[in-house]
Amino acid sequence: MTDPILATDGITRSFGALVASKDITLDLRPGEIHALIGPNGAGKSTLIQQIAGGLRPDSGRVLLGGADVTHLGTAARARMGIGRTFQISSLAMDHTVLQNVVLGALGHRGDVFRFFTRVMKDAELIDVAERALAQVGLSDARNMRTAELSHGQRRQLEVAVALTLNPRVFLMDEPMAGLGTEGTAQMVGFLDGLRAQAPILLIEHDMDAVFALADRISVLVYGRIIATGTADQIRANPQVREAYLGEEGAA
Ligand code: ADP
Ligand code: MG
Repeated sequence: MTDPILATDGITRSFGALVASKDITLDLRPGEIHALIGPNGAGKSTLIQQIAGGLRPDSGRVLLGGADVTHLGTAARARMGIGRTFQISSLAMDHTVLQNVVLGALGHRGDVFRFFTRVMKDAELIDVAERALAQVGLSDARNMRTAELSHGQRRQLEVAVALTLNPRVFLMDEPMAGLGTEGTAQMVGFLDGLRAQAPILLIEHDMDAVFALADRISVLVYGRIIATGTADQIRANPQVREAYLGEEGAA
């Protein structure tokens, strides 16, 4: 088996009496989409935050390319190749599409104090941003105000921001949330191709999208992973059906 690019090793995290992550061990292998599913409040976003560095586990480790990054902050982990998109958008709505990508690229380079108008003349940064926009199909919208984009285009823009640091892995928290049928189909097609560039840990509620994309699925319930397997294994797992799939009517 190929070595995983990203792994968690026994991550545990409590908020007061609530154990939001219980001894979570999972990994992300080259070329794969690993979906993390589970009911609201199961602890999916909390786990992603601990992998990205915004929240420290009480115990356990996060490993990137075999290196222990548990004690590094978000910016250091981003520079080491952890790219992410958020459940709640972090875009600057009054800025243009291109400016948002440049700002993202700038954050990754750590040059956050440089003056914005000078930044927009930085040919290298703009080149990185333009390439990211082209990859998500937003080149034509580069000079639009971000507020004018459709919901689906904003989701694409968030992926473009993540692409600017050339990530080794992607963490995506509900990238299809709020998208219609067409937007979801577009995003599914896009993520399907993106996995060749870097594997994706994908939190998603849309089970059709999950079953279409995921090489492996882990099911999180009350902070604990109750099963990891292929789509077929997860569909057939009685515990999973009872805890999650049954109640959604998915099969
Ligand atoms: P999911 O993303 O699976 O819907 P979350 O990871 O957002 O779930 O939340 C898991 C649980 O942890 C929930 O019960 C939530 O209320 C709780 N939780 C998350 N973040 C905090 C926090 N900063 N302080 C206290 N409780 C939190
Ligand atoms: Mg969440």
